Amino acid sequence: MNLARCTAPDGFNHPLASWSTAEWTNAVAGEVGEACNLAKKLIRHRDGVPGNKKAEDQDTDSLRRRIAEELADVVIYCDLAMASVGYDLATTVRDVFNRKSQELGSPYVLDGVRGESGLRSDEKIALRNSDNADGGVGGEDRH
Ligand SMILES: [Mg+2]
Repeated sequence: MNLARCTAPDGFNHPLASWSTAEWTNAVAGEVGEACNLAKKLIRHRDGVPGNKKAEDQDTDSLRRRIAEELADVVIYCDLAMASVGYDLATTVRDVFNRKSQELGSPYVLDGVRGESGLRSDEKIALRNSDNADGGVGGEDRH
């Protein structure tokens, strides 16, 4: 969806290959910087430091919401940067997350196949066992 919107004439009309991977990752960094700048403004609130002049920067709830939105932009650009090197964001995040869990001996793994993200491996085993006991459909609803 993200790549389609990026490249489509009724989207951004921006061919993926028209930017290098360095340019896509630069866009990621730009969004990270926007999130960091807003987080700096939260720190000013925490520490009572002046400098938040804009009206929207007076409200910490607004700052938190805008940080979340900038972080969403980060993920959106990460998806395009990942596509620029021929990889899928969700699959790569799952694989890297699970490889680290394996290195650590941690039971926390992402499945991503059946929407079971966030379950520990022992929970997934229990889910699969309960699937087998009743014919197998709809196990996710038990959690
Ligand atoms: Mg942004």
